Amino acid sequence: MRGFESFPATEPTEPEGGNRDKLKEVDEKSESVIEDRDMVYARLSRVAKRAIVVTMIGLGVGYGVKGIEESAEYNKHIDSQGAVVGENFKQAEVELKDEIGRNVRFIKIGDEKAFSERNDERTPPKISGCEEVGLSEKVVGELLIEGTFFPKGFINGEVSEVNFHVGPGPTLDRYGLDEKSSAGEYDITSRTDFYFDKSQLGSKARELYDYFELVFAHEVGHANDWEESHNLNRLDRAQLLGKIVERVKSKDALDGISTYHSEIKIEDKEDQLYAKAKEYWAELVCNYLIFPEWLQKEHPEDFQIVDEIVKKSDPTFDPIKANQERKAFLNSEVARQQYLSPAP
Ligand SMILES: [Zn+2]
Repeated sequence: MRGFESFPATEPTEPEGGNRDKLKEVDEKSESVIEDRDMVYARLSRVAKRAIVVTMIGLGVGYGVKGIEESAEYNKHIDSQGAVVGENFKQAEVELKDEIGRNVRFIKIGDEKAFSERNDERTPPKISGCEEVGLSEKVVGELLIEGTFFPKGFINGEVSEVNFHVGPGPTLDRYGLDEKSSAGEYDITSRTDFYFDKSQLGSKARELYDYFELVFAHEVGHANDWEESHNLNRLDRAQLLGKIVERVKSKDALDGISTYHSEIKIEDKEDQLYAKAKEYWAELVCNYLIFPEWLQKEHPEDFQIVDEIVKKSDPTFDPIKANQERKAFLNSEVARQQYLSPAP
């Protein structure tokens, strides 16, 4: 199953320069937070005239525990969680089955998979292809590996590879939106691929990093959902999915500027709701990491759901502080790259 997202294809309402100047004058923090988010999307929607799409592939064909011994170990592990967890899990499963039908099986598959990988080393991802798309390998490495710009537990052991490619990503039709090509992909081997369509993106460092941040933050959400995370037990998984399904169905669900979950066209209603939940979660993680103040102010309930999961692996992670530090780091890198290679 695949997912994707798109930025708005419409032209921004204000010119970039004007927007930037206006931003400086805005004293009220909350206004500036919202403007900041709108500005990034507006800037990207102009450089990427057509929709930018983020894809998730390989969903649902995951493998669980392998072999009789491993299976016995897993059963022991389940028993050690106690009867209360077992009962609550069964109850949550029944409730979820009403909403997403057979897709409920992905919780167990994900939990077994995490168990079978429990002793794997939590190494940072291998990065390749940065320079080809116009990013600095050193900067990307610092962003993802060296720094504290993203929650480490969401990356190490959860994302195995970060590969950059020039050109549009594969087109997809699984969501009934076959005219869009993907900007990023996450697959079940926890490898991520990022596509830089030069005809759409241009070559400004600022825009390239904005684009990468947004797409990466979405994909890292997929890498840490109820199927893929190594940091959740089966009850955590079921409860997280339950909350996200509720959020997708609620009237005040995140929608509009960056989300596309509402566009997904899958005929089977249960499959559709499940696919929407997958994408809704990835979009929440994206907004939590890139626009934390906006999410906290506009969608506090959604912010809370992500924060709780992040804190399981990274108890001291502060998304607002991390975001400010990341921005400052990128601003200085962008300024440096512009200085080194001035426009002709
Ligand atoms: Zn996605």
